[in-house]
Amino acid sequence: MSTTESGKTLVTLIPGDGIGPEVAFSAQRIVDATGAPIEWDLQRAGAEVFKQGLPSGVTPETIESIKRSRVVLKGPLETPVGFGEKSANVTLRKLFETYANIRPARELPGVTTPYTGRGIDLVVVRENVEDLYAGIEHMQTPGVAQCLKLISRKGCEKIVRLAFEFARSEGRTSVACATKSNIMKLTEGMLKRTFEEIALEYPEIEAWHVIVDNCAHQLVKRPEQFDVIVTTNMNGDILSDLTSGLVGGLGFAPSANLGSDVAIFEAVHGSAPKYAGKDTINPTAMVGAAVMMLRHLGMFEQASAVENALLATLESGVATRDVVGDDAAVGTTAFTDAVIGNLGKRAASFREREYRPIQMPSFDPSPVRVVPSRRAVVGVDVFVESALQPGELGPEIERLAEGSALRLKVVTNRGTQVYPSTGTLTDCVDSYPCRFVPAAGGEVSDADILDLLNRVAAEHTWNHVEKLYSFDGEPAFTKAQGED
Ligand code: NAP
Repeated sequence: MSTTESGKTLVTLIPGDGIGPEVAFSAQRIVDATGAPIEWDLQRAGAEVFKQGLPSGVTPETIESIKRSRVVLKGPLETPVGFGEKSANVTLRKLFETYANIRPARELPGVTTPYTGRGIDLVVVRENVEDLYAGIEHMQTPGVAQCLKLISRKGCEKIVRLAFEFARSEGRTSVACATKSNIMKLTEGMLKRTFEEIALEYPEIEAWHVIVDNCAHQLVKRPEQFDVIVTTNMNGDILSDLTSGLVGGLGFAPSANLGSDVAIFEAVHGSAPKYAGKDTINPTAMVGAAVMMLRHLGMFEQASAVENALLATLESGVATRDVVGDDAAVGTTAFTDAVIGNLGKRAASFREREYRPIQMPSFDPSPVRVVPSRRAVVGVDVFVESALQPGELGPEIERLAEGSALRLKVVTNRGTQVYPSTGTLTDCVDSYPCRFVPAAGGEVSDADILDLLNRVAAEHTWNHVEKLYSFDGEPAFTKAQGED
């Protein structure tokens, strides 16, 4: 955090696009009315910046401001079609390695939902930079696309530690880890295993695992059983939209993107362009994000003042059109004025938590190398592009490998063994991973692989090669369906 000459804390304020300025300035006005010692540095990102020809959607001045302040309150940013390639949101998230996305969902007074009275009060802690959202995609053939689901031990450790530290900071007593480790044993399984190890360091917090699809089911059936949920990026994206829906929807969903150096606070919703400038939208999500920001800055008193005033306003029935419809609604400005007028009041039906600063886990920024005591290359997968039937391709590949150090073990298609045939009715596409193992046992050398590739390339197009490792005697790859 950075302190200005006037002794205030510097915060970069990005109003954003569409309804962004309305919600951002609403939150700013309410925070200022508490007397919080904040100096705002107004900066630009989003549609306007894309139109200027900056493909990242973020100006160098904005980046410099964030480097100084390390704290951002950000309105939604549009990703315009036709300008630039990347989302300015993703640019900011990646530039500043905000690896954790924290999304609370709590029943709010005055906001009636099918779950009213159930006492929902949970937080999704979503990994924010890895997984399928690392955006590493390739076309294997013109008809077969792949996306790499990248999960690292370091990434898992960061998000799990942060989830437990977050739980501690809010006095929460349970952390559930939601994964699909029953299917993706190496990637999703890595989060589960890391969670189980690190949980031992937090004995006062109940730690449990739930398969992510059941987690979605349980969230709809009995959401009150959850406290903190930690999960991978895509699971968290989906689950946290679900949890927002349980407590009133996007107009009420705040979020924090936390990293070791920088924290970005924002509403979950987008720029809702059709409402831009109409003074009708609900600023609650953005005001909630500002409350999270104030706590991050250690301004607990002001955070509590804003939260209580906001909830007292909602409880009194003052609400925007998304809550009460057009006839009974107040506009964004009037709602903001009502919150400011309620500073000092409390909602009767709301129990406030006790908050402590989050002890942000510290990590070595250098690349982490996980070193096994033994490692070996025990085979290789070569992906071959072919329109042949498996029963024709398999013998051809066996013939090409004849006399080499490797023998064809199995040909698969979309994860299922298709050669030698096991009798399954696989609808094959034109990318066939062919798995080779040493013909005479032992390990596989790079020279063996290069020789094999030359042989295969003589008659076929190959598009991808993957070494098969064993680490500490354990296979570091999965088997295809049907493979022994
Ligand atoms: P959106 O802007 O979130 O709007 C979807 C709908 O949600 C709105 O039409 C409205 O529903 C409701 N809504 C959203 N915010 C509201 C608020 N504050 N008060 C009341 N209702 C609200 O989603 P989108 O239309 O898919 O996305 C628009 C743009 O935003 C896109 O360019 C997208 O890339 C961007 N986006 C940015 C972020 C971000 O910056 N973090 C996040 C998501 C999307 P009704 O129509 O039912 O009234």
